Amino acid sequence: MSLKVYINGQLYDKEKAMVSVFDHGLLYGDGVFEGIRAYHGKVFKLEAHIERLFSSAKAIMLEIPMTRQQVAEAIVNTLKVNGLSDAYIRVVVTRGVGTLGLDPRKCSHPQVIIITDAIALYPEEYYEKGLDIITGATRRTDPSALNPRIKSLNYLNNILARIEGTNAGVMEVLMLNSQGFVAECTGDNIFTVKNGDLYTPPVSAGILIGVTRMVVIEIATKAGYKVYEPNMTLYDIHNADECFLTGTAAEIIPVVKLDGRHIGDGKPGPVTKELLRLFRQYIQSS
Ligand code: PMP
Repeated sequence: MSLKVYINGQLYDKEKAMVSVFDHGLLYGDGVFEGIRAYHGKVFKLEAHIERLFSSAKAIMLEIPMTRQQVAEAIVNTLKVNGLSDAYIRVVVTRGVGTLGLDPRKCSHPQVIIITDAIALYPEEYYEKGLDIITGATRRTDPSALNPRIKSLNYLNNILARIEGTNAGVMEVLMLNSQGFVAECTGDNIFTVKNGDLYTPPVSAGILIGVTRMVVIEIATKAGYKVYEPNMTLYDIHNADECFLTGTAAEIIPVVKLDGRHIGDGKPGPVTKELLRLFRQYIQSS
Protein backbone atom coordinates (compact mmCIF):
# COMPACT_ATOMS: atom_id res chain seq x y z
CA MET A 1 0.00 0.00 0.00
CA SER A 2 1.27 3.44 -0.90
CA LEU A 3 1.88 5.89 1.93
CA LYS A 4 -0.96 8.40 2.27
CA VAL A 5 -0.32 12.11 2.62
CA TYR A 6 -2.90 14.47 4.10
CA ILE A 7 -3.57 17.73 2.26
CA ASN A 8 -6.44 19.96 3.35
CA GLY A 9 -8.70 17.21 4.59
CA GLN A 10 -7.99 14.68 1.81
CA LEU A 11 -5.63 11.73 1.79
CA TYR A 12 -3.54 11.21 -1.36
CA ASP A 13 -1.15 8.49 -2.41
CA LYS A 14 2.40 9.70 -1.81
CA GLU A 15 3.06 9.96 -5.57
CA LYS A 16 -0.03 12.09 -6.10
CA ALA A 17 0.39 14.42 -3.11
CA MET A 18 1.21 17.78 -4.67
CA VAL A 19 0.94 21.52 -4.25
CA SER A 20 1.04 24.19 -6.95
CA VAL A 21 4.26 25.72 -8.26
CA PHE A 22 2.59 29.06 -7.44
CA ASP A 23 2.37 28.17 -3.75
CA HIS A 24 4.27 30.80 -1.78
CA GLY A 25 5.64 28.00 0.39
CA LEU A 26 7.68 27.04 -2.67
CA LEU A 27 8.20 30.50 -4.19
CA TYR A 28 9.24 32.27 -0.96
CA GLY A 29 9.49 29.74 1.86
CA ASP A 30 6.34 31.43 3.14
CA GLY A 31 4.88 28.97 5.61
CA VAL A 32 5.54 27.12 8.83
CA PHE A 33 6.13 23.53 9.87
CA GLU A 34 6.62 21.06 12.69
CA GLY A 35 8.61 17.86 13.07
CA ILE A 36 6.90 15.50 15.49
CA ARG A 37 7.47 11.94 16.56
CA ALA A 38 5.23 9.03 17.45
CA TYR A 39 6.35 6.26 19.77
CA HIS A 40 4.34 3.05 20.03
CA GLY A 41 1.41 4.64 18.22
CA LYS A 42 1.27 7.67 20.52
CA VAL A 43 2.25 11.13 19.31
CA PHE A 44 4.93 12.56 21.60
CA LYS A 45 4.20 16.04 23.02
CA LEU A 46 1.49 16.66 20.43
CA GLU A 47 0.04 19.66 22.26
CA ALA A 48 3.42 21.41 22.55
CA HIS A 49 4.06 20.94 18.82
CA ILE A 50 0.61 22.18 17.86
CA GLU A 51 1.04 25.19 20.13
CA ARG A 52 4.38 26.00 18.48
CA LEU A 53 2.87 25.53 15.00
CA PHE A 54 0.07 27.98 15.75
CA SER A 55 2.51 30.44 17.37
CA SER A 56 4.80 30.30 14.32
CA ALA A 57 1.76 30.88 12.08
CA LYS A 58 0.57 33.80 14.22
CA ALA A 59 4.01 35.39 14.01
CA ILE A 60 3.90 35.37 10.20
CA MET A 61 0.20 36.35 10.08
CA LEU A 62 -0.84 33.05 8.60
CA GLU A 63 -4.23 31.82 9.65
CA ILE A 64 -4.39 28.06 9.84
CA PRO A 65 -7.89 27.18 8.58
CA MET A 66 -8.40 24.54 11.27
CA THR A 67 -8.67 24.46 15.04
CA ARG A 68 -5.85 23.02 17.17
CA GLN A 69 -8.10 20.05 17.89
CA GLN A 70 -8.73 19.43 14.17
CA VAL A 71 -5.00 19.54 13.40
CA ALA A 72 -4.35 17.11 16.26
CA GLU A 73 -7.05 14.73 14.98
CA ALA A 74 -5.75 14.96 11.40
CA ILE A 75 -2.23 14.04 12.60
CA VAL A 76 -3.42 11.07 14.64
CA ASN A 77 -5.67 9.90 11.82
CA THR A 78 -2.95 10.15 9.13
CA LEU A 79 -0.67 8.08 11.34
CA LYS A 80 -3.40 5.48 11.81
CA VAL A 81 -4.28 5.28 8.10
CA ASN A 82 -0.63 4.60 7.33
CA GLY A 83 -0.43 1.91 10.00
CA LEU A 84 2.60 3.55 11.57
CA SER A 85 3.35 3.32 15.28
CA ASP A 86 6.94 4.60 15.44
CA ALA A 87 7.17 7.44 12.99
CA TYR A 88 8.30 10.92 12.13
CA ILE A 89 5.49 13.33 11.31
CA ARG A 90 5.97 16.47 9.26
CA VAL A 91 3.20 19.07 9.44
CA VAL A 92 3.55 21.85 6.88
CA VAL A 93 1.30 24.87 6.43
CA THR A 94 2.04 26.94 3.34
CA ARG A 95 0.66 30.38 2.50
CA GLY A 96 -1.04 28.82 -0.53
CA VAL A 97 -1.30 29.69 -4.21
CA GLY A 98 -0.53 33.31 -5.04
CA THR A 99 0.86 35.53 -7.76
CA LEU A 100 4.56 35.88 -8.52
CA GLY A 101 4.66 38.96 -6.28
CA LEU A 102 5.38 38.77 -2.55
CA ASP A 103 1.97 39.93 -1.35
CA PRO A 104 0.59 37.21 0.95
CA ARG A 105 -2.91 38.75 0.74
CA LYS A 106 -3.04 37.56 -2.89
CA CYS A 107 -2.69 33.94 -1.80
CA SER A 108 -5.81 31.82 -1.97
CA HIS A 109 -5.79 29.61 1.07
CA PRO A 110 -3.17 27.84 3.16
CA GLN A 111 -2.28 24.25 2.37
CA VAL A 112 -2.19 22.05 5.46
CA ILE A 113 0.00 19.04 4.73
CA ILE A 114 0.75 16.06 6.97
CA ILE A 115 3.42 13.58 5.97
CA THR A 116 4.21 10.53 8.08
CA ASP A 117 7.29 8.47 7.48
CA ALA A 118 9.87 6.20 9.04
CA ILE A 119 12.23 8.01 11.41
CA ALA A 120 15.64 9.14 10.19
CA LEU A 121 17.86 9.08 13.28
CA TYR A 122 21.58 9.63 13.54
CA PRO A 123 23.19 6.21 13.01
CA GLU A 124 23.25 4.27 16.31
CA GLU A 125 27.07 4.32 16.50
CA TYR A 126 26.98 8.10 17.15
CA TYR A 127 24.92 7.56 20.30
CA GLU A 128 27.74 5.26 21.48
CA LYS A 129 30.75 7.28 20.40
CA GLY A 130 29.36 10.81 20.16
CA LEU A 131 29.38 13.41 17.40
CA ASP A 132 32.29 15.46 16.10
CA ILE A 133 30.94 18.90 15.12
CA ILE A 134 32.25 22.30 14.04
CA THR A 135 31.21 25.89 14.55
CA GLY A 136 29.97 27.36 11.27
CA ALA A 137 30.85 30.78 9.89
CA THR A 138 27.16 31.31 9.04
CA ARG A 139 25.52 33.17 11.92
CA ARG A 140 22.02 32.22 13.10
CA THR A 141 19.44 34.69 11.79
CA ASP A 142 19.13 37.68 14.07
CA PRO A 143 15.70 37.73 15.79
CA SER A 144 15.24 41.29 14.53
CA ALA A 145 15.44 39.96 10.95
CA LEU A 146 13.66 36.61 11.27
CA ASN A 147 13.12 35.17 14.71
CA PRO A 148 14.46 31.59 14.99
CA ARG A 149 11.50 30.92 17.31
CA ILE A 150 9.41 30.88 14.12
CA LYS A 151 9.73 27.42 12.63
CA SER A 152 9.30 28.70 9.10
CA LEU A 153 9.78 27.02 5.74
CA ASN A 154 12.79 29.32 5.31
CA TYR A 155 15.58 27.04 6.49
CA LEU A 156 18.26 28.42 4.19
CA ASN A 157 20.17 29.92 7.13
CA ASN A 158 20.45 26.47 8.69
CA ILE A 159 21.13 24.81 5.35
CA LEU A 160 24.05 27.15 4.65
CA ALA A 161 25.59 26.15 7.97
CA ARG A 162 24.87 22.48 7.27
CA ILE A 163 26.71 22.79 3.92
CA GLU A 164 29.75 24.01 5.85
CA GLY A 165 29.45 20.88 7.96
CA THR A 166 29.19 18.62 4.93
CA ASN A 167 32.28 20.27 3.44
CA ALA A 168 34.12 19.67 6.72
CA GLY A 169 32.91 16.05 6.94
CA VAL A 170 30.74 16.46 10.06
CA MET A 171 27.03 15.81 10.62
CA GLU A 172 25.99 18.86 12.67
CA VAL A 173 27.15 22.46 12.91
CA LEU A 174 27.03 24.83 15.85
CA MET A 175 25.73 28.31 15.01
CA LEU A 176 26.55 31.51 16.87
CA ASN A 177 24.20 34.48 16.93
CA SER A 178 25.09 37.85 15.44
CA GLN A 179 26.66 38.89 18.78
CA GLY A 180 28.92 35.86 18.83
CA PHE A 181 27.08 33.97 21.57
CA VAL A 182 26.19 30.31 21.10
CA ALA A 183 22.69 29.88 19.65
CA GLU A 184 21.96 26.32 18.52
CA CYS A 185 22.85 23.73 15.91
CA THR A 186 21.24 23.59 12.46
CA GLY A 187 18.51 21.19 13.60
CA ASP A 188 19.12 20.66 17.31
CA ASN A 189 19.47 22.61 20.55
CA ILE A 190 22.71 22.39 22.53
CA PHE A 191 23.45 21.65 26.21
CA THR A 192 26.66 21.37 28.21
CA VAL A 193 27.45 19.82 31.57
CA LYS A 194 30.00 21.56 33.81
CA ASN A 195 30.73 20.51 37.39
CA GLY A 196 27.48 18.54 37.49
CA ASP A 197 25.23 21.41 36.34
CA LEU A 198 23.50 21.82 32.99
CA TYR A 199 23.78 24.83 30.73
CA THR A 200 21.89 25.73 27.55
CA PRO A 201 21.64 29.03 25.65
CA PRO A 202 18.67 31.23 26.58
CA VAL A 203 15.72 31.89 24.27
CA SER A 204 17.04 35.47 23.98
CA ALA A 205 20.12 34.11 22.17
CA GLY A 206 17.83 33.55 19.16
CA ILE A 207 16.94 29.87 19.07
CA LEU A 208 14.06 27.60 18.26
CA ILE A 209 12.49 26.63 21.57
CA GLY A 210 12.89 22.91 21.11
CA VAL A 211 10.22 20.63 22.50
CA THR A 212 12.99 18.15 23.38
CA ARG A 213 14.91 21.00 25.08
CA MET A 214 11.85 21.68 27.27
CA VAL A 215 11.49 17.99 28.14
CA VAL A 216 15.21 17.69 28.98
CA ILE A 217 15.04 20.74 31.25
CA GLU A 218 12.01 19.19 32.97
CA ILE A 219 13.47 15.72 33.50
CA ALA A 220 16.91 17.05 34.49
CA THR A 221 15.37 19.38 37.07
CA LYS A 222 13.24 16.52 38.43
CA ALA A 223 16.38 14.38 38.69
CA GLY A 224 17.98 17.07 40.86
CA TYR A 225 20.21 18.83 38.31
CA LYS A 226 20.46 22.58 38.21
CA VAL A 227 19.80 23.93 34.70
CA TYR A 228 21.12 27.38 33.81
CA GLU A 229 20.35 29.40 30.67
CA PRO A 230 23.15 32.00 30.44
CA ASN A 231 24.60 33.55 27.33
CA MET A 232 27.34 31.11 26.32
CA THR A 233 30.51 31.50 24.31
CA LEU A 234 32.55 28.95 22.38
CA TYR A 235 34.96 28.91 25.34
CA ASP A 236 32.16 27.45 27.50
CA ILE A 237 31.55 24.62 25.06
CA HIS A 238 35.22 23.85 24.38
CA ASN A 239 35.79 23.67 28.16
CA ALA A 240 32.64 21.79 29.13
CA ASP A 241 32.82 18.39 30.83
CA GLU A 242 30.10 17.07 28.53
CA CYS A 243 28.03 18.31 25.64
CA PHE A 244 24.91 16.95 23.96
CA LEU A 245 22.31 18.00 21.40
CA THR A 246 18.53 17.65 21.66
CA GLY A 247 15.92 17.38 18.94
CA THR A 248 12.82 15.46 18.00
CA ALA A 249 14.65 13.15 15.60
CA ALA A 250 17.94 13.01 17.53
CA GLU A 251 16.42 12.80 21.06
CA ILE A 252 19.65 13.29 23.06
CA ILE A 253 22.93 12.76 21.24
CA PRO A 254 26.39 13.25 22.76
CA VAL A 255 28.93 15.64 21.22
CA VAL A 256 32.53 14.71 21.97
CA LYS A 257 34.46 17.09 19.76
CA LEU A 258 33.96 20.69 18.68
CA ASP A 259 36.30 22.51 16.28
CA GLY A 260 39.01 19.87 16.77
CA ARG A 261 38.91 20.11 20.60
CA HIS A 262 37.85 17.09 22.62
CA ILE A 263 35.05 17.90 25.02
CA GLY A 264 35.85 16.46 28.45
CA ASP A 265 37.64 13.18 27.91
CA GLY A 266 36.30 12.89 24.36
CA LYS A 267 33.72 10.24 25.27
CA PRO A 268 29.97 10.51 25.94
CA GLY A 269 29.70 11.49 29.61
CA PRO A 270 27.75 9.97 32.51
CA VAL A 271 25.25 12.83 32.81
CA THR A 272 24.42 12.68 29.09
CA LYS A 273 23.92 8.92 29.38
CA GLU A 274 21.71 9.27 32.45
CA LEU A 275 19.58 11.93 30.77
CA LEU A 276 19.15 9.78 27.68
CA ARG A 277 18.00 6.91 29.93
CA LEU A 278 15.56 9.23 31.76
CA PHE A 279 14.35 10.63 28.45
CA ARG A 280 13.57 7.16 27.13
CA GLN A 281 11.78 6.34 30.40
CA TYR A 282 9.78 9.55 30.03
CA ILE A 283 8.73 8.51 26.51
CA GLN A 284 7.52 5.14 27.81
CA SER A 285 5.45 6.76 30.55
CA SER A 286 3.91 9.55 28.48
N1 PMP B 1 16.67 23.99 16.53
C1 PMP B 1 16.33 23.92 15.22
C2 PMP B 1 16.84 24.96 14.29
C3 PMP B 1 15.49 22.89 14.77
O1 PMP B 1 15.14 22.81 13.48
C4 PMP B 1 15.03 21.92 15.70
C5 PMP B 1 14.09 20.82 15.25
N2 PMP B 1 14.70 19.89 14.37
C6 PMP B 1 15.44 22.01 17.03
C7 PMP B 1 16.24 23.08 17.41
C8 PMP B 1 14.98 21.02 18.05
O2 PMP B 1 13.61 21.21 18.32
P1 PMP B 1 12.66 20.00 18.76
O3 PMP B 1 13.24 19.45 20.02
O4 PMP B 1 11.33 20.64 18.98
O5 PMP B 1 12.68 19.02 17.66
